Amino acid sequence: MSEAVKIWKILDILKVTEELFAKNNISKPRLNAELLLCGALKTKRINLYLDFEKPLNETELAVYRSMVKRRINREPLQYILGEAEFYGLKFFINRSVLIPRQETELLVDKTLEIISTQRLENPKILDIGTGSGCISIAAASRVLCSIRAIDISREAVKTAQANSDLNNTSSRIEFIQKDFINDNESFNGYNLVISNPPYIAEFEINTLEPEVKDYEPKSALSDNSDGLSFYRKIFETAIQTIEPLTVLLETGDGKKEKVEELVQQYGIKNYTFHKDLLNIERVLEINII
Ligand code: GLN
Repeated sequence: MSEAVKIWKILDILKVTEELFAKNNISKPRLNAELLLCGALKTKRINLYLDFEKPLNETELAVYRSMVKRRINREPLQYILGEAEFYGLKFFINRSVLIPRQETELLVDKTLEIISTQRLENPKILDIGTGSGCISIAAASRVLCSIRAIDISREAVKTAQANSDLNNTSSRIEFIQKDFINDNESFNGYNLVISNPPYIAEFEINTLEPEVKDYEPKSALSDNSDGLSFYRKIFETAIQTIEPLTVLLETGDGKKEKVEELVQQYGIKNYTFHKDLLNIERVLEINII
């Protein structure tokens, strides 16, 4: 006689997982449970609601359980699912790249706005620290442009290229492995330079959530110094350009004063900080004329 195996229906397993996540201080426990189950069942969220009574088979249960275990260890949802959404597009995500953040969408908005207001036709753009490629790909999905996107990590460049293929932007973006801090990269010939640099100071890393500090690539988060190295190198390079140039850089919460001080030290006069939806100065725009 075969042993009775517990049958898990969608509704029941979601409830149990939600409780487990809540006990383990995972924020938005229900949403996490649902999104992981969608990943395990390879289905859309709406179908969970339509199939509440449906039992999971053994394979589905095993896949889901291993995902839940990873989440309890505070691994971010996007690494477990292998994907994330940014600017309405899908991106492949793995531990070699930073998970795209919603606030970074402002950098894309500003890029598109500048291309439109300056009436740039097929502008040349440099993206420094492209990671998953999210900023470049989002921009290139909307407008004709020629982007050079660099990143120090070979694995990140591979991921970005796969994302560009996925979103049909490959003819508009070239991805290159390059160390921006130590190898020289001139800004001459570009209309725009964009970047979401690693701006977390080394001493701040310990204050971050486990999802971030234990899983996201260190080199994408921090410069292992005061969090300002990329701004310095970018300002130093920008003031040497011989043609007009716009630079758009993401800045972190509470970093405005330090970054502004640096802008002034480099003698840059024409700059603005743009606020995000939470009223945080999120994007620094510099115009070199
Ligand atoms: N450009 C990518 C993003 O904005 C990666 C940035 C980074 O790794 N610092 O998400």
